[in-house]
Amino acid sequence: MAIPPIVIATWPFGKEAVEQALPLLAKGKPALDAAIVGAQAVEDNPKVMSVGFGGIPNRIGTVSLDACVMDGKTMNCGAVAGVENIKHVASLARLVMEKTPHVLLVGEGAKWFALQNGFVLETLLTPESVAEWYKKRPKDLKMDGHDTVTVLALDQTGHLGGVCTTSGLSYKLPGRVGDSPIIGAGLYVDDEAGAAGATGTGEEIIRISGSHLIVELMRNGKSPQEACELAVKRVNQLAVRRGVHAAEVAFLALDRKGNYGAACSESSQFSFAVGQSGKIEMITAKKVSGGVG
Ligand code: ASP
Repeated sequence: MAIPPIVIATWPFGKEAVEQALPLLAKGKPALDAAIVGAQAVEDNPKVMSVGFGGIPNRIGTVSLDACVMDGKTMNCGAVAGVENIKHVASLARLVMEKTPHVLLVGEGAKWFALQNGFVLETLLTPESVAEWYKKRPKDLKMDGHDTVTVLALDQTGHLGGVCTTSGLSYKLPGRVGDSPIIGAGLYVDDEAGAAGATGTGEEIIRISGSHLIVELMRNGKSPQEACELAVKRVNQLAVRRGVHAAEVAFLALDRKGNYGAACSESSQFSFAVGQSGKIEMITAKKVSGGVG
């Protein structure tokens, strides 16, 4: 019997991703295909100023994109980081997975690989993103707004797939790469345990291998909700240990039975879109304070 498919995606703009992915899953398409189509809709939307086309540039005015994909059935994965002038970096990450023996290509190499494979150079700047960049340009090394689209899907055959794509922190230092293209940090998908993804301050998510941590917690019997909450606690705990303010992070997770969960730091307001049985709803994630995990 076909398994009821489900797709979840980060932030209010995740609704757009879910709207695209859910009908594909209903038609029997594989989880990863549907998740990439969903993520690409957000990459294409210039109004989303933290993903793809129209993303706020880095400190020197360049839009630099990061993305990764992972297939839960095969554990195949691919990623690109620091890519300029290529719009669909989630698809590019998939090509790295499918056409190379590597997992991660960066910068000029990733761009060269894209051009070899039919991608075209495009400006990722829009009048709005340039205006925003000028307006809020910080005087010091402060980095500002962010938000990544992470899409997790379960298809009718019971396989999981995930995608994470972002322009990263606005005003980031040139060359800075966050968690989003790092397998295990921004995304991790294993049919045998579950799928997890992240958004928020990438450095703190990398420090705890956030998505991998959540998947391993699910492997050991935690529900997606419990696992996400524990990951936020781990971030909080580390902040206490390091004597810094707890960073804003948010996690979401999905298992092979279609159970899902999400959690975020106390200081965040994180919502995510859930699509199943032809319906899409927005859910506000539970805020988690306190440490351990
Ligand atoms: N995690 C992204 C990064 O650090 C930003 C975000 O999702 O808010 O680049």
